[in-house]
Amino acid sequence: MKTLLKNGTVVTGEDVRVLDVLIEGEKIAVIGENLSDPDARTEDVSGKLLLPGFIDAHTHFDLPVAGTVTADDFETGSRAALLGGTTTVIDFATQYHGESLNKALENWHAKAKGKASCDYSFHMSISDWNDSVFEEIQDMIDLGVTSFKLYMTYDGMMVGDKEIYQILKRLKEVGGIAGVHCENSGVIKALVEEQKKLGNNSTACHSMTRPCQVEAEAMNRLLRIAELADSPIIIVHLTSKAGYEEALEARSRGQKVYLETCPQYLLLDQSLYELPLPECLKYVIAPPLRKAEDRECLWSALAEDKIQTLSTDHCSFSMEQKLMGEKDFTKIPGGMPGVEDRGILLYTYGVRENRITLSQMCRLLAENPAKLYGIFPRKGRIAAGADADIVVLDPEAEGVISAKTQAYNMDYAPYEGYKTKGQIETVYLRGRKVVENHRIVAAHEGIYLKRGKYSL
Ligand code: MN
Repeated sequence: MKTLLKNGTVVTGEDVRVLDVLIEGEKIAVIGENLSDPDARTEDVSGKLLLPGFIDAHTHFDLPVAGTVTADDFETGSRAALLGGTTTVIDFATQYHGESLNKALENWHAKAKGKASCDYSFHMSISDWNDSVFEEIQDMIDLGVTSFKLYMTYDGMMVGDKEIYQILKRLKEVGGIAGVHCENSGVIKALVEEQKKLGNNSTACHSMTRPCQVEAEAMNRLLRIAELADSPIIIVHLTSKAGYEEALEARSRGQKVYLETCPQYLLLDQSLYELPLPECLKYVIAPPLRKAEDRECLWSALAEDKIQTLSTDHCSFSMEQKLMGEKDFTKIPGGMPGVEDRGILLYTYGVRENRITLSQMCRLLAENPAKLYGIFPRKGRIAAGADADIVVLDPEAEGVISAKTQAYNMDYAPYEGYKTKGQIETVYLRGRKVVENHRIVAAHEGIYLKRGKYSL
């Protein structure tokens, strides 16, 4: 089966050109001018942007959190992803205490298999570091899990400084890399105690007990540990100017530091925690939303190519679930959706507001995560030989984000009423049209992707 996309505006990490794209089977066969093929189904995409399928390297589908389970599983989460132009998600398989990494990976395969409508892969979250886990790191690499997640906070999940150092040393031996959630666990606990002693239980305490110093201190410590281990490092969901400055300082020492941020830290701020109940609950995420100056800092860092990837940390909860913490801010399940909105939000508020270029958008959403997570050049670029994962974006169409029209298994939208410029019209996944006119036309086509070593 062949498809010829004629006269599309093809976006890569380097340039933007009007070209034809010939898809053959699952792959992009040829890109050029004035292509023709009598056997191909031809589609005129003039005036439309063609982008490589987006990669969301930070999703939590079907994740048990705080006595409940995220609202979106691989069924609804991957459909929402596709509708938003995301053809690959990298979710977090999670090792629980006493469990092997192989068992954790098996668990996550079972959650995704037969349900995923987009391609998927897994990072491995390590919570229980010991000699047998040390050995299993090589198994993970062999099975295509080349990136690992470490938490510096959350009882039951967090690893200490000793473990972080040992894990980074081990990953260096096998060519793996770690992404780290940076917050100082002890200080958060102390700040929570302070608020509780004062009788404060409101949602606003959420951000008060996780200030930016808590992120920056953990980043500083992590970055120094990575320096000692002589290991590159990924900071996931960077939120603050204070944290960003720590990363710049480590880079100036010659360290390799990759940064990820998320749309919510670019578009929303902590004043939302002052909204009346239950509205404020929707925005409880960790690390929390920050101030306007932090947002501006992150936008500038994107414009200067100092942040490599934009992911979502999609971790959705219904309003009923969020209400578990109505009377106690420490019981609010933390997280928000995003996998469906990321691409169009970055296009609208980044590209169309001239904060970043189309090629930067392409790098942030597709090319850089493909390289960093070891699936380039198969994914992340419209190029001959790559998987034919293509997003057709109509730059003239406009939309409005609403809970009524989103595909999430959610009863609200954090970006309710946000106007978007441009709409994702059609999406190809490995040569097959999976979204047409904003509707899923082929479901459950997702496959597991084995990944190689990072190369960014
Ligand atoms: Mn996360």
